[in-house]
Amino acid sequence: MGTNENLSDKEILVLGYAKTGKSVAEFLVKQQANVTINDRGDLSQDPSVTLLLEDGVQIVDGGHPLELLDKHFDMIIKNPGIPYSIPFLQKAIEKNIPIYTDVELASRFSKASIIGITGSNGKTTTTSLLRELLTEREKGNAYLAGNIGIPTLDVINQATEDDDIVMELSSFQLAGTEQFHAEIAVITNIYEAHLDYHHTREEYAKAKLKILANQTQDDQIVYRYDNAELHHWVKEFKGQLIPFSIEIIDEFVRSHGAYVEGEWIYFKEEQIIPLSDIQIPGSHNVENVLAAVAVAKIKGVSNQEISNTVREYKGMRHRIQPVANVSGRSFYNDSKATNITATITALNSFKQPIRFIGGGLDRGNEFDELIPYLKNVSGAYLYGETKEKMAKAFKTAGVNTIELFDDLIEATSKAYREARQGEVVLLSPSCASWDQYQNFEIRGDVYIDTIEKLLLEEPYMDE
Ligand code: ADP
Repeated sequence: MGTNENLSDKEILVLGYAKTGKSVAEFLVKQQANVTINDRGDLSQDPSVTLLLEDGVQIVDGGHPLELLDKHFDMIIKNPGIPYSIPFLQKAIEKNIPIYTDVELASRFSKASIIGITGSNGKTTTTSLLRELLTEREKGNAYLAGNIGIPTLDVINQATEDDDIVMELSSFQLAGTEQFHAEIAVITNIYEAHLDYHHTREEYAKAKLKILANQTQDDQIVYRYDNAELHHWVKEFKGQLIPFSIEIIDEFVRSHGAYVEGEWIYFKEEQIIPLSDIQIPGSHNVENVLAAVAVAKIKGVSNQEISNTVREYKGMRHRIQPVANVSGRSFYNDSKATNITATITALNSFKQPIRFIGGGLDRGNEFDELIPYLKNVSGAYLYGETKEKMAKAFKTAGVNTIELFDDLIEATSKAYREARQGEVVLLSPSCASWDQYQNFEIRGDVYIDTIEKLLLEEPYMDE
């Protein structure tokens, strides 16, 4: 819980003025800090800037001039996406100006306790499910914040001592913390990712583990026990260990954590819910449920409430999202899968034959890594810049039906028409969307709209 330090008259530079920067600037103005905003873009047309100017905020836009640092700043609050390697931040580091992200301020000022969720994959799913689980309690509210799209400082004023802030944290956000404190920290897993920004795997892991830095013996660490390396790392911190596991079920997990045994989820040897309550597909989602259930149990949510919430939870949009289940065909939208690893996760989530739809922006990579996971694919409907490269991998894997299309709508229409009873139709592009779409959300929506239109116009007749 925060210390409520006094920021009045402190000189603070807000670096980057997008959604998070706006919320930081507004928060700091309320704290009566002297605020300067610096953004490399042109802010002259932004109406929110006018209001801040009236509050005495200084604006420096169109670049990051090094001279700006000749002025004294007590701290810089930067957008998590701005790398420390830019000359401006290098100079700030030389001048020993503390550089934080919004998360640091949120932690210092929060009256509510913070449940932080980080990891390479499964953050958003675990965060959103956990928030649903925690709203079931009699006392106290649970607020969503962080990387999930809600700036952390937007919820700080509403959340009281009785509440929790369920905060999704990227390694970029955590890198800019110092006193950040999570009463419960969840580490879903640590895989190699974002190595271009963090350089080495160890540095990446270190940024994630920063979530544990200020924990005490009264705090808890919920983490993936099946990652042997992770178990080894978290032991170095003070928080109590709450492992979750679907593979290694030993005495330690049984007495301390959440696990799966005989088609049930258990927490510390208590039977909680049957696996059949889980509606979201794939063993990776069982892991996300385990992590969320562990926190819910720590927070006193009843088994009945856990069961009701898990049964109703249909997952996040665009992440192996169930779209329709009609005439024995199930349609899933996994537009968030912008790389091969995510697509492998999706392919592993189904036992049924899959009509696979994929393709998109060409980043120069091949798709051979997919080959071992294509055994269940009954047809591939490929489009976008990568369609030929992907077709090569599907051919090597022995998939007989491979068809190429100009766009997603055509590919989806053909997959729809060729899908048989008992099959899954899956969009899991394995590529970014930018060759044809603005983002993966729009791509996923196009897929859903196409399916919905086809269901009306060309209903299946073989029920
Ligand atoms: P994040 O917020 O960390 O990006 P999401 O919950 O949005 O994670 O899930 C994104 C994708 O990551 C999913 O579509 C799935 O392919 C994969 N994924 C989700 N949870 C896990 C997990 N626990 N382990 C491995 N992969 C996962």
